[in-house]
Amino acid sequence: MLKESNWFKDKYMHITIIAGARPNFIKISPIINEIRKKQSEGVDIQYSLVHTGQHYDKVMSGLFFEELNIPEPDVNLAAGGGSQAEQTASIMVAFEKYLAQHPTDMVMVVGDVTSTMACAIVAKKMCIPLAHVEAGIRSFDMTMPEEVNRIVTDSLSDYYFITSAYAKENLKKCGVPDEKVFFVGNVMIDSLLTNLPRLHKPNEFDQLNLKEKEYIVLTLHRPNNVDDTDNLLTMLRTIDSNVGNVQVVFPIHPRTKQKLDGIDCSFPNIRFVSPMGYLEFIYLVKNSLAVITDSGGITEETTILRVPCLTLRDNTERPETCAIGTNELIGTNPQNLIPALKKLFSGQWKTGGTPELWDGHTAERIVNVIVEFKTK
Ligand code: UDP
Repeated sequence: MLKESNWFKDKYMHITIIAGARPNFIKISPIINEIRKKQSEGVDIQYSLVHTGQHYDKVMSGLFFEELNIPEPDVNLAAGGGSQAEQTASIMVAFEKYLAQHPTDMVMVVGDVTSTMACAIVAKKMCIPLAHVEAGIRSFDMTMPEEVNRIVTDSLSDYYFITSAYAKENLKKCGVPDEKVFFVGNVMIDSLLTNLPRLHKPNEFDQLNLKEKEYIVLTLHRPNNVDDTDNLLTMLRTIDSNVGNVQVVFPIHPRTKQKLDGIDCSFPNIRFVSPMGYLEFIYLVKNSLAVITDSGGITEETTILRVPCLTLRDNTERPETCAIGTNELIGTNPQNLIPALKKLFSGQWKTGGTPELWDGHTAERIVNVIVEFKTK
């Protein structure tokens, strides 16, 4: 592979790292830290950070840069807003212009958001080697925009950094040769383990008089759960009426908030709060009795924190969180929550274990692989 390409012909190597949305910021932070560490050890590796602007407000973007000490992006493409197609198109147009003026040896995309796919397409069309971090995961649910993003990105990548053996199997089925796949572990868990000693108690903790292991955290933002307002209300009513007196803290995603704005509804046990910074949110999760969610990344974090996780989805692209971790797929039918909550309250939830290589050293392994390319 190296012999066929021109890259790394300069004396140092330059990587362009892409981030656009909340889960991306958590994934790039340890990679950037590791690159800086290598720089301080005298390794010739440089990077630029491109923020596509997919998430742009303080609570979904700015806070993460501050809390995770992510350096200011080299550029913000300000390509947020609009439909899936509009956003994809805006990111592609802006990133193509940027790349034309800022040559690089490798584009690195993370996760499965619109920015991941849009920048992958641009990089590949400009014949720049492409690395995908968190490659190969599949929900096999084509109604998820993220599944389309994963399939497109993985069909274009040159280097696949994966979190589990499942991902390797998925890539093999797509014809990706083993030598392009690197089982390195999970960068989300690098961030989690690094930041555990830095967690902040959110203001809401005392305001709501929360007590350790006596409240539930709720997050919902996937189109299947929130786009139909009636479904969303039924789900919230079911949660509200089956938790006894346990408080449910719901840091509400802007997409979900938009659906509920202006609707006259009351849920005595549910406390709606703003999306939180990472250090506050992980504090909240770590001390909770359980999490109810439709997020992917949160199922990984609850696995490591040994917090029971009830996932309101019919499938998952992270099966190891169920097979090994504390996660259980409850489905999107609100009725399924009733027996699951009974099981939780009876104290019978599994405690789970740790998936292989989710050990806090994933970014180190990724950057080592890249540095080895250079020196080969
Ligand atoms: N998260 C956060 N504040 C919140 C909710 C979530 O910092 O109020 C973090 C969470 O810890 C996880 C990530 O955001 O690291 C998950 O993002 P999201 O659920 O938006 O994306 P997904 O993982 O489903 O792609």
